[in-house]
Amino acid sequence: MVKLYERKGSILLPKVNLTRGDFYVNQLISGHGTLAAYQNRFFGKAAACTCGHPLEDRKHLIFDCPQWDSIRQKFFPINFKRSTIELLIFNNKSRNGLREIMKHKLQTLFSSLENEDTPA
Ligand SMILES: [Zn+2]
Repeated sequence: MVKLYERKGSILLPKVNLTRGDFYVNQLISGHGTLAAYQNRFFGKAAACTCGHPLEDRKHLIFDCPQWDSIRQKFFPINFKRSTIELLIFNNKSRNGLREIMKHKLQTLFSSLENEDTPA
C-alpha cells in the first residue's frame, strides 16, 4: 500500500505501510540491514552474496542475482533492468515480486542464524 512520498537522504521513497504484507518490501526500501553489503559495512561480515557475487546490495538482489531469476520472470516487466527500485514498487505485480525475493532472502538468512529468534 504505497501512499505518500517520504524524503530520505537525497532520494524520494514511497511511504509504505508496515502491514504484514509489506514488511518485506519495506525491508528493501528502508531497512536493508539484512543485506550482506550492510552487514559488511556495519558489522564486518562478508559482503558477498550466496550466489558468489562479491557484493550483495539492493541492486544486485533486485536486478542481477541469478537466485531470483524465476521470480523476476514471473513478476517483473520484461524491461525491468531499465527500471528503478522505486518504479518497481509502484507497480502491483512487480511489488509482489520484490516481496517474494525479500521473503525468500530473509527465510534463507533466518535459517542460517542460530542465535537469533525467527519471526513468527
Ligand atoms: Zn546473488
